[in-house]
Amino acid sequence: MEGETHILVIPYPLQGHINPILQFSKRLASKGPRVTFVTTTSINKSIQAQASSFVSFEIISDGSEEVERLETIDEHVQRFKSKVSESLAKLIQRHNSSKYPPKFLVCDSFMPWALDIARQHGIDGAPFFTQSCVVNAIYYHAHRGEIKMPLEEGSSISLPSMPSLGSNDLPSFLFDTGLYVALQNLLVNQLSNFQDANWLLCNTFDKLEAEVVNWMASRWTITTVGPTIPSMHLDKRLEEDKDYGLNLFKPNMDTCMEWLDTKEIGSVVYISFGSLATHGEEQMEEITWGLKNSNCHFLWVVRESEVKKLPINFQQETTEKGLVVSWCPQLEVLAHKAVGCFMTHCGWNSTLEALSLGVPMVAMPQWSDQPTNAKFIVDVWKVGVRIKLTEKGIATKEEIELCIKEVIEGERGQIMKRNALRWKEWAKEAMEEGGSSDKNIEEFVAKLARS
Ligand code: UDP
Repeated sequence: MEGETHILVIPYPLQGHINPILQFSKRLASKGPRVTFVTTTSINKSIQAQASSFVSFEIISDGSEEVERLETIDEHVQRFKSKVSESLAKLIQRHNSSKYPPKFLVCDSFMPWALDIARQHGIDGAPFFTQSCVVNAIYYHAHRGEIKMPLEEGSSISLPSMPSLGSNDLPSFLFDTGLYVALQNLLVNQLSNFQDANWLLCNTFDKLEAEVVNWMASRWTITTVGPTIPSMHLDKRLEEDKDYGLNLFKPNMDTCMEWLDTKEIGSVVYISFGSLATHGEEQMEEITWGLKNSNCHFLWVVRESEVKKLPINFQQETTEKGLVVSWCPQLEVLAHKAVGCFMTHCGWNSTLEALSLGVPMVAMPQWSDQPTNAKFIVDVWKVGVRIKLTEKGIATKEEIELCIKEVIEGERGQIMKRNALRWKEWAKEAMEEGGSSDKNIEEFVAKLARS
């Protein structure tokens, strides 16, 4: 029966959205359903794909092939919505008249309009939230106008089932309204039509965000399905599920692993700011000095577009201590015994990965949901320290050095490491047979099969 359930899944074309939604698709497929993972043309050129035996892939147009000049973010968001609305409708129609008509659409919560398209074509759907439940709840309150925007610098707010949050702990788009109106709308509008959905799929696990998960669950059918990390790094039940499988950048696998193999246990700082964050030259220089002065070995991901900001000769001068790569297999790196600390921008995937692999963090959030994740890393899960910024918003070399040393050598660092190892166990527990997320995925699949 379950083999006949066909589910379409569509992520927003960003690395931090593809990874968790693809992992969820694999978990779904492992429980019986046929899963079609839909990508869009803008990422097709850059995708480094490994064939997945779990799901089949389809590509639809997002209009990027027709774009002749640089777009503003606003234009990009609009074009994406109108083109994908058309091509997704066509895809569903085509599948509707195939041997395996789809029963359900899982869409990225960045695309609430995709749910309407699914319903117009006779199938039900659910949003998949790629951020934490705390952040979902904050956007819900913002969408209802319960958070006065912009928040005054230095003020704090109290929202149900979460600690009091200062303006530096809130998602940046709630107060940084001027620059990115389109992105702000995109993020807050995730919560526009979710009340019509029978499922709200969330990449988190119950123990991690117990209070807010309970608060949300008392109102809506929220379904925690995370952490969406390849099985080999958690429960090990899906033998072939070793990595995410769709990279927008090419990882330097062998270089990183061979280099890490030569380093002592817990001695390396791994630094990455994800797939989108950028820093100015001044900040890059402070990071280089912070790393040098910490005297630790470091593995630093500097994407190709950022390399030109590194001081001249930095790489040659630091070959003894460091390795700079343009992209790495992050999970493999975090799982390596040589890594003692992760200096991160606190993207939700990076945060979940560090927690699930037991690595304490130096938090250097930049925008979006990252400040909120940093607040929880430090004050709730107690697995890291947060870099304090100057008034100009710079993390100085002294502060970077101090934070790295505290995590990798300090007494507090030992406690954070122990806490991180506890979260690692709990993350695994959630995904193991009978664990909270595993049970939720089973129930979701069983209900779809019966529908
Ligand atoms: N990642 C990776 N290699 C790198 C840097 C990042 O594979 O060198 C992956 C990382 O494991 C995570 C994703 O890219 O799954 C980044 O997502 P996140 O939410 O942390 O940040 P974003 O890129 O969305 O800001």
